[in-house]
Amino acid sequence: MRSASRPCLPKKALSGYRSRADDARRPGRRERPGGKVSGTPPARVNAPGGVLELAMELLRRPSITPRDAGCQELLAQRLARHGFQHRDLSHGEVCNSWLWRGTGRPLFAFLGHTDVVPPGPEEDWSTPPFAPTLRNDCLYGRGAADMKGSIAAMTVAAEAFLARHPEHPGSLGLLLTSDEEGPALNGTKYAAGCLAEAGLVPDYCLVGEPSSEQVLGDTIKVGRRGSLQGRLQVLGRQGHIAYPERADNALHRVLPALAALCAERWDEGDERFPPTSFQVSNLHAGVGAENVVPGRAEIRFNFRYAPSSDTAGLQRRVNEILARHKLRYELDWQHSAEPFHTRGGRLLEAARAAVREVTGRDCALSTSGGTSDGRFLAPLGAEVLECGPLNASIHQVDEHLALKDLELLARLYQRVLENLLLGSSAPGREAAGVAAMVSDG
Ligand SMILES: [Zn+2]
Repeated sequence: MRSASRPCLPKKALSGYRSRADDARRPGRRERPGGKVSGTPPARVNAPGGVLELAMELLRRPSITPRDAGCQELLAQRLARHGFQHRDLSHGEVCNSWLWRGTGRPLFAFLGHTDVVPPGPEEDWSTPPFAPTLRNDCLYGRGAADMKGSIAAMTVAAEAFLARHPEHPGSLGLLLTSDEEGPALNGTKYAAGCLAEAGLVPDYCLVGEPSSEQVLGDTIKVGRRGSLQGRLQVLGRQGHIAYPERADNALHRVLPALAALCAERWDEGDERFPPTSFQVSNLHAGVGAENVVPGRAEIRFNFRYAPSSDTAGLQRRVNEILARHKLRYELDWQHSAEPFHTRGGRLLEAARAAVREVTGRDCALSTSGGTSDGRFLAPLGAEVLECGPLNASIHQVDEHLALKDLELLARLYQRVLENLLLGSSAPGREAAGVAAMVSDG
């Protein structure tokens, strides 16, 4: 089912965005910007065609990264019934889709991934990972929380929003990739580049990653730290352990340097980011025998760094510490993520209000955790935040999502759309460089 064999579309492939032919706008129904927003009726989680049924359809597809297993095609077909168009932005073995409806600004986009991490041995699971199961008022299956539940909620929220506000200001998009859990090179990074080339960077982007910690909506992520890996080879001279004067123990050489690296205060962080963290992930030395002095030691380490540090500065300081300990070494670097941070904007206001309205609680703003694909949209100018279900069971055996959270999430996303696109001061950002699209829409 997946369409990755089709070549990635060139820039002009996105020109259809400006066509109104498929917009499915219904004449005679007008939605005033600033019009009164009436309450959101509660969705029934198990209604036919509802959020639960869609989540289960997605969970049945074994889309282990970078496979999509037909998830994006399913969503494209479903949203086509609501006037969404589909552009295939697949690249290499990765399946990417841009689904959108409307041409006006502001452009709001949900961002999600259809791939999941491998489930591990199936016998470790209480029920098979790709046979979605309901028990204890939860939905179980690989990807339930990360993040097929979110994708189902986004889809149902968009449908419900359009049913009530078909002539809403602005336009809606859904950007999907099957390469978030893998190397993340041919996925959102690539697809976001296609959107940027076509002048279609979303003004607002909501990532459905599981951001909640204890209860749904308690935490929204407004940024992520950067990630920098180092692979260090320290060189000594191998020898007999009884004749250390003829050897040069690589482990003895590197340990004081490692202690210095671990003790270093790299920065103080700032009001949104914790201080930069240095962690050793691997240390290998020795040939397995008890009577051989190791001639080399290999260390792998990782920085999760705040925006107050940068890669060049961290690399320079590591080299200074290694030089101070007079090591012979080789050091390779791999930079996998720039930090990003979204200052408060209209999307954040809309999301905080939605969390309050749907869950009755105020959310905390956080930049903790690993990297996310939001890092590819934020530098292009989108206001990016991450709001999704509980992350307690993600990447684990028996991954699950509470049914009531699945329903609340769909309502929460619908309220974000209503607050953002129908709120009294929306739309707010259409002036910036999108005059052609505005006149079109
Ligand atoms: Zn995820």
